[in-house]
Amino acid sequence: MDHDSDMKVYEIRAAVLRQRGGPLKIESLQMEGLREDEVLVRLVASGICHTDIDFVDAWAESDEALVLGHEGAGVVERVGKSVKRVKRGDPVVLSYQSCGHCRRCQSGNPAHCQHFYEANFGFQRLDGSNALHRSGVRGHFFGQSSFATHSLATERNLVKVSKNLPLELLAPLGCGLQTGAGTVMNSLKVAKGASLAVFGTGAVGLAAVMAARLVGAEPIIGVDIRPKRLKLALKLGATHTIDNRRQDVMAVIAQITGRGVDYVVETTAHPEMHRLAVEVLNPRGVVALLTGESGTDSLPEGRKTVGIIQGDAVPQQFIPKLIKLYRAGKFPFDRLVKFYAFMDINRAMADARRGGTIKPVLRIRKDP
Ligand SMILES: [Zn+2]
Ligand SMILES: [Zn+2]
Repeated sequence: MDHDSDMKVYEIRAAVLRQRGGPLKIESLQMEGLREDEVLVRLVASGICHTDIDFVDAWAESDEALVLGHEGAGVVERVGKSVKRVKRGDPVVLSYQSCGHCRRCQSGNPAHCQHFYEANFGFQRLDGSNALHRSGVRGHFFGQSSFATHSLATERNLVKVSKNLPLELLAPLGCGLQTGAGTVMNSLKVAKGASLAVFGTGAVGLAAVMAARLVGAEPIIGVDIRPKRLKLALKLGATHTIDNRRQDVMAVIAQITGRGVDYVVETTAHPEMHRLAVEVLNPRGVVALLTGESGTDSLPEGRKTVGIIQGDAVPQQFIPKLIKLYRAGKFPFDRLVKFYAFMDINRAMADARRGGTIKPVLRIRKDP
């Protein structure tokens, strides 16, 4: 039987954070068996996202030890009694968690879940329990804590995928790529011919660039301080790039467009870039803040800033859509990915910090 809620305790391996700034150490932990609504996933790979790195840097001495990771991909090993949509052996990609019960979840907007913060950043289940408590470590980050050999997810943050693509490649779709592409396609609904600038050409920004090309935006202006990334942005769909260490962003955007842009996708979280984003905006233009802010701020002449979470994507719909686009050669996100062995997690994080690697993906176990 593969669907009874079990009383078992699993021995897992996970990268544990016990020190501000890292390093993470791979340790053996005890994980409680799954609840009725949970799915035990054996992880094949996990992307590393900047939010993971932010948590490593923000960890305080008074905090408990944590297992991070929120771009997991793996194979279903066991399902709880009430789980209907997946079964043992199914390949899955993990995404953000939502409660499933609140008004916004019920109306199909899980990215606006009223319990979004607790479900993703609470390091516990919504009922306050923690499957890693025996080891004195907190998990359930984004409903997954995927820097581990095994993860407990639910149907709400798990997406069944087809077997024809390597699972390890699909891991980063669950957060960063979904956020960048979803912002352009779902949140802003950028139309053909609209002008757009992307501030910061990391994984999220480059996903926005690829999506902007898909919907026919023009011009698509990539702004970054790293020439190598700007070069890649041009290959992925940017029509222009600006190196904001050497060039005056406002002047160059005015030169390209004759005025300003209809949209700015701001991924850098630098206050100065936020200010600049507003300044280069056309009347009725929108700045999408992919920097953790929420809510809408109205500005003169119909301009506004909008805080966006997970690109307003419903993972079970949007991730298969991105996979389809990838297969059609229209969303070549594989060009952002560099693979690392799980044990090299600290090197992968260091490379991402320095900007040498755009999207590190950890290989945790071989795809069966
Ligand atoms: Zn993320
Ligand atoms: Zn909810």
